[in-house]
Amino acid sequence: MNPKRIRTLKSGEGGHGPVAYWMSRDQRVEDNWALLFARGIAVDAGVPLVVIFCLVNEFLGAGKRQYEFMLEGLQEVERSLSLKKIPFVFLPGSPGEEIPSFVDKYGIGILVTDFSPLRSKKEWVETTALKLEIPFYEVDAHNIVPCWVASGKQEYAAYTFRPKISALLPEFLVEFPELEPNSEFPETFAGKIAGRKKAVRKKVGKEVEESPGGRNMAELLPEQLRVEGTDPYFESGHFVPGESAAREGLETFLTQRLDSYDALHNDPTKDMSSDLSPYLHFGQISAQRVALEVEKTGANEESKAAFLEQLIVRRELTDNFCYYNRAYDSFESLPAWAKKTLDAHRQDRREYLYTREELEFAKTHDPLWNASQVQLLRTGKMQGYMRMYWAKKILEWSESPEKALETAIYLNDRYELDGRDPNGYVGILWSIGGLHDRAWREREVFGKLRYMNYSGARRKFDVDAYVARYPPVE
Ligand SMILES: Cc1cc2nc3c(=O)[nH]c(=O)nc-3n(C[C@H](O)[C@H](O)[C@H](O)COP(=O)(O)OP(=O)(O)OC[C@H]3O[C@@H](n4cnc5c(N)ncnc54)[C@H](O)[C@@H]3O)c2cc1C
Repeated sequence: MNPKRIRTLKSGEGGHGPVAYWMSRDQRVEDNWALLFARGIAVDAGVPLVVIFCLVNEFLGAGKRQYEFMLEGLQEVERSLSLKKIPFVFLPGSPGEEIPSFVDKYGIGILVTDFSPLRSKKEWVETTALKLEIPFYEVDAHNIVPCWVASGKQEYAAYTFRPKISALLPEFLVEFPELEPNSEFPETFAGKIAGRKKAVRKKVGKEVEESPGGRNMAELLPEQLRVEGTDPYFESGHFVPGESAAREGLETFLTQRLDSYDALHNDPTKDMSSDLSPYLHFGQISAQRVALEVEKTGANEESKAAFLEQLIVRRELTDNFCYYNRAYDSFESLPAWAKKTLDAHRQDRREYLYTREELEFAKTHDPLWNASQVQLLRTGKMQGYMRMYWAKKILEWSESPEKALETAIYLNDRYELDGRDPNGYVGILWSIGGLHDRAWREREVFGKLRYMNYSGARRKFDVDAYVARYPPVE
């Protein structure tokens, strides 16, 4: 595989023990460069591979819906790995503690992890590296062009990023090799992992039935996970979690919707986008696989290009922003022109001001906005065009841009299955803070930020049909 995908976080002599892949952002067995790299070095060293996953009990405001989606996906990961005789170990606790302690206890020779630009993963990786005395590698298994290769700096906008990515795609948009299985399920692990599973169950305080396919990880949703509040409106059937469901979703999109993507994906009543974002977010499907399969289809070229622009340029631009700007979820990180114009309009009169709770349960005067929030509450995914409208109205109805950012990030991360993602932070900063955008005609509250309103939406699509689909919640 392309060595530019890999970074050495800690060098040194490898021990003689197994190689461990600390799976985090890329929760899949197929098409996973970090897993492939870890297996490759294990084969070279003649040692087995083990995969570990650390479950933290609180993650960026994630709720029950996201934990369940993730845990069910991980259950499939465990089953697929076991077919390759690769053990999967689930560690509840803080990664900075649990990973080094696992390495120590099980005599791990080399550690590999996948890449995320978000602060929490960066901090876990830094803490872990400080405690380790074995080689530790990071592999960008999420982006098609590794984040640090795509650009060495924070990009100004899509138009500055696009030529860089396009030039590098021939080098990185390549087929994946097969994952080689362990020659046998490592004896040293069999007993220890059974013991570990018992300990995990004890720790989460819940006895879980052992089934032929392994224990039900979804049921392991530990009671002590700090998942606050109830989620009464969520209808869990809209997105089936896991790698197989993601591949089926891709197949349906390619055969039934891709051809109309360019013309219709922005229409909230037409459901023409891929619906892959929850799977991409949890790494249950690789964006590289999606791009390779899109290229193979005979869909019209405009649609293919429009979709790949979102999947590759827009998506990888968000990792670029979060990687190079540590304050990626704050007012501070906005471009100077946007801060200046928002500052100049701080005192403007707001016609409506809503509390977070009124917004959360869709109690505004605007039926279109309410419908989009109800779509989010019920399905776990708001339509893409509506996300822009939704965030811009939160700016219009909040006492300050800071408050608007805080509210939008809270709601996005709490209710979107694809939330807590660079795409989310950048999408919100684009809408509320002009990030990666340009100045427009000046107006109240928004200053020179791009404006969106109800009558504009009416000209674009059948607002009444969308509103009728998502009636108010009680
Ligand atoms: C306020 C706001 C909040 C957002 N929050 C999130 C979020 O939390 N998580 C998230 O994944 N996306 C977020 N987006 C980006 C985008 O709206 C979603 O990725 C898209 O709607 C997901 O639906 P889809 O998979 O059907 O998209 P498709 O149109 O089928 O696109 C395919 C993939 O391309 C990527 N993509 C599409 N649009 C964008 C975009 N504007 N920026 C970056 N990547 C994009 C996504 O990975 C998406 O799954 C947000 C956008 C805005 C304006």
